[in-house]
Amino acid sequence: MSDYPLIIIGGGLSGLAAGIRFARFGQKVLILEKHSKPGGLNSYYTRQGRLFETGLHAITNYAGPEEKHAPLNRLFRQLKLSRQQFPIHQQLCSEVVFPGRASLSFSNSFDRLLEEIRDKFPRAIDRFLQLVMEIKELDAFRPQPRMPTRARLLAALDDELLVELLLCPLMFYGASEEHDMDFTQFAIMFRAIFLEGMFRPAGTIKDFLELLISQYKTFGGELRLRAPVLEIMQVSEQNGRRVHGVRLASGEVVTCDVLLSTIGHPETLALIPAPPNGATENTAALAGRVSFIESIALLPRAACGHIRNDRTIIFYNLAEKFFYGRPEEAVDLASGVICFPDNFQGLPTTDTIQIRVTHLANYDLWKKTADKQEAYRQLKEEWIKRSRQTVGKIIGNYPENVVYEDSFTPLTIERFTARSQGAVYGSPRKIKDGRTPYENLFIAGTDQGFLGIVGSMLSGVSIVNQCILQGQDSTRN
Ligand SMILES: Cc1cc2nc3c(=O)[nH]c(=O)nc-3n(C[C@H](O)[C@H](O)[C@H](O)COP(=O)(O)OP(=O)(O)OC[C@H]3O[C@@H](n4cnc5c(N)ncnc54)[C@H](O)[C@@H]3O)c2cc1C
Repeated sequence: MSDYPLIIIGGGLSGLAAGIRFARFGQKVLILEKHSKPGGLNSYYTRQGRLFETGLHAITNYAGPEEKHAPLNRLFRQLKLSRQQFPIHQQLCSEVVFPGRASLSFSNSFDRLLEEIRDKFPRAIDRFLQLVMEIKELDAFRPQPRMPTRARLLAALDDELLVELLLCPLMFYGASEEHDMDFTQFAIMFRAIFLEGMFRPAGTIKDFLELLISQYKTFGGELRLRAPVLEIMQVSEQNGRRVHGVRLASGEVVTCDVLLSTIGHPETLALIPAPPNGATENTAALAGRVSFIESIALLPRAACGHIRNDRTIIFYNLAEKFFYGRPEEAVDLASGVICFPDNFQGLPTTDTIQIRVTHLANYDLWKKTADKQEAYRQLKEEWIKRSRQTVGKIIGNYPENVVYEDSFTPLTIERFTARSQGAVYGSPRKIKDGRTPYENLFIAGTDQGFLGIVGSMLSGVSIVNQCILQGQDSTRN
C-alpha cells in the first residue's frame, strides 16, 4: 500500500490549491516543497524589517463577489474559502504607452478600453467588438491546433499599431513563447486582464499564503518544506507506464497512488530516469526562453512629486515594432513594465512609494556570470542604472535618495523556483489536459496553460477534479 493517495511536487500557488481541493474530501495528501517558504514564483522575503513580495504586481481575473460564475469566485468556492476572508483593492487604471505614437488606458471597467479604442482607433472599433465576441465564445481549454495570434489579430483588426498595443501587456503578463502567442493563450490573457481586470489583496502575499496553508492543514493536508524531490520513480506495468513515488534529496522514498507535479513539464520529465529502451523526450528543447530582470525601488514620497504616479501599471514600448523574446543584450530596455504597487483603490498613503520595473532579459548572457560574483554584481548594477534612465524618460527621473533597492535576474528566478532558464511562464508547449505518458502522473500550474496567480490555482483545482477525483461526486461547487 502507498504512503499517500496523492503527492504534490511544489508548494507554489497551484500546488497549494490542488492540495486544499484534494484534502477537502478527507483524503491524505502530501505537498513537497524544496524551499524553506511556500509560494514559488509568488513568494516574499524581508529586508531591513520590511516585507517585499517577489512576484506580485497585480492579480488578474478580478470579479466582484456577486459574479458567481467568475473564475475568482469559482476558485474560492472550490477551496471552501469565503471572499470575506480575502479583502481586495482594485487597480486604479493601467496603460499601454508607445511614446510619441499611441497609448491605451484600461481599468476594471471594460468600457474604458472600448472608449479608448473608439476614440483613438475609430475605424477599428466594430472589428474590435467582433473580436471580443469571438474571444468570449472560445473554449480556450479544448485541445486544438495552435493558431498564431499576430496574424489573426491583423486579419481581424486591420491595424498593426492597435495589434501591438493589445499584445504588449498580454505578452508581458503571460506569453511563454517568443514573438507570438497561441490564440487560445491570448484569449485566456485577454479575459484575465482586459475583460476581468486586476487587483491586489489587502494584506501581503504572505497573508494570502498563510490563509491557504491554514485551510490546507485544517483539512488534514501535510506540507514538508526543504524537501526537494530528486527523482520520480517509475514502474513498468503491462497495462501502461506508471510512477509509484518520489525520492527526496535526503534519500527517503515516499510512495503514492497518484503524483501531481507543479514544477513545470520539462522539469518534471527531467526527474524521471530514462527507461532502458524507451523513447525519451528532449526536455531541454521543451524549456521556455522568456525570462526577465526586475528591480524594486523604494523612494521617499515627498521627493516624487514630479513622477507620473497616477497609474497602477504602465506597459511601455519604445521600439518601432514591439519585440517580445530573448534579447541580444543582457536586458532589453526598449520595452518594460512599470508597476506602482501602492496605486490600488483604497490603500492608505505611505511615506514611501514603491516602483517595480521589469524588462526582458537574456538568460544565456546572465548565466555566463554565474560563477563570477563580481562580474554578476557589476552587470546587474550597470543594467539597473540604465533601466532607471530609460524609465525616467517615461515617468520622470527617480530621485537619487532611494531608501531601498533590490533586483533579481533570470538566474535568481531559476535558483528560487527551479524553472529551467528562469522561464517565468514555463514551456511554450502547454499540456492542456494535464496528462503525461505516465497514467498516474499529472501536470498542473503554469505548464498546463492557465496563467498568473488565479490561473495557476484554478489549474491545480481543475486537474484534481478532472484527473484525480474523477468518479467521485466532488465537482459540485
Ligand atoms: C517576477 C514575477 C512576477 C509575477 N507577477 C505576477 C503578478 O503580478 N500577478 C500574477 O497573477 N502572477 C504573477 N506572476 C506569475 C505567478 O507568480 C505564477 O503564475 C504562479 O505563481 C505560478 O504558480 P505555480 O504553482 O504554477 O508555479 P511555481 O510558483 O513555480 O511553484 C512551483 C514550486 O515548486 C517548487 N519546486 C521546484 N522544483 C522542485 C522539486 N524538485 N522538489 C520540490 N519542490 C520543487 C518550487 O520551489 C516552487 O515553490 C509573476 C511571476 C514572476 C516570476
